[in-house]
Amino acid sequence: MKKYNFNAGPSILPREVIENTAKQILDFNGSGLSLMEISHRAKDFQPVLDEAVALIKELLNVPEGYSVLFLGGGASLQFTQVPCNFLIKKAAYLNTGVWAKKALKEAKLYGEAVEVASSADANYTFIPKDYVIPTDADYFHITTNNTIYGTEIRREPDSPVPLIGDMSSDIFSRSVDVSKYDCIYAGAQKNLAMAGVTVIIVKDDKLGRAPREIPTMLDYRTHVEKGSMFNTPPVVPIYSALETLRWIKKSGGVEAMDKKAKQRAEIIYSEIDRNKLFKGTVREEDRSLMNICFVMNEEYAELEKPFMEFATERGMVGIKGHRSVGGFRASCYNAMSLEGAEALVACMKEFEAKK
Ligand SMILES: *Cc1c(COP(=O)(O)O)cnc(C)c1O
Repeated sequence: MKKYNFNAGPSILPREVIENTAKQILDFNGSGLSLMEISHRAKDFQPVLDEAVALIKELLNVPEGYSVLFLGGGASLQFTQVPCNFLIKKAAYLNTGVWAKKALKEAKLYGEAVEVASSADANYTFIPKDYVIPTDADYFHITTNNTIYGTEIRREPDSPVPLIGDMSSDIFSRSVDVSKYDCIYAGAQKNLAMAGVTVIIVKDDKLGRAPREIPTMLDYRTHVEKGSMFNTPPVVPIYSALETLRWIKKSGGVEAMDKKAKQRAEIIYSEIDRNKLFKGTVREEDRSLMNICFVMNEEYAELEKPFMEFATERGMVGIKGHRSVGGFRASCYNAMSLEGAEALVACMKEFEAKK
């Protein structure tokens, strides 16, 4: 039976990305060695890194003056690395979920970090809109897509200070005005690659201003200077990211990804709204195109487990909601086909008809 991978992360990748990476793992560029056993300093690997950086710059239209890094440590390390490098006196954070809150907690270790607004009291079911960003903040940190709760900031807020964005779960799903950001980071395992690498875009002339000693490995300048080769980078994950970047470009770039994301989301959300058994969990205007969260309507609460079993038998994988929301979450990253969205909707319709 065909499986549809709705996992939240690590998550679906285009089949050809997996196959091409697998080939290189067996024999890298005909060298007779595996991608897993070559040196990152082998002359064949540098072009992989260079092409990946160039494609990121091209696909996201990254302006001059920014560097693209591939580092380890996940998005979670960025929660620390960002304030360590960018917080001079004060940082502002928008609290839109668990990840945003964790980022804020780390910033407090480095100085004054203020939460400008939060939707925690409503279990993060919306993106706060009425707030004032302090004009003396060094940056305003946002989580553009809240993977757990299914909300998304699809248009940058007007900010008097530069933005810093955790784009772990929606990077490359739409175009972004990078010039508004001092830093963008994303754990690759949601929408780009296998787990093990984090993509970071930093504005070069904003580095080196923080009034503290920065440990060498945490200093972005270390990695900018060495082109992500200060220490051993995660070679195989970077290669898989390159394959995905090639696939995005071939498929029409981030504009095409955006169009497909809107189509998938329309297919699934309209069924959630139509089907008497289900309802969405977040405010309509803030609905994520990447993580689509829904629960049973109260009167059908006892059907949650039966629907889960029904859908699983029909090849739906990973649709269980996060424990802090419950119900279901269909993660629809770039590689999810419209056919996958339709298959999930067919399950929902069939299940409703049986009741
Ligand atoms: C998954 C996720 C993280 C954590 O990523 P790690 O790479 O596991 O540290 C952070 N932020 C967002 C928005 C996420 O979806």
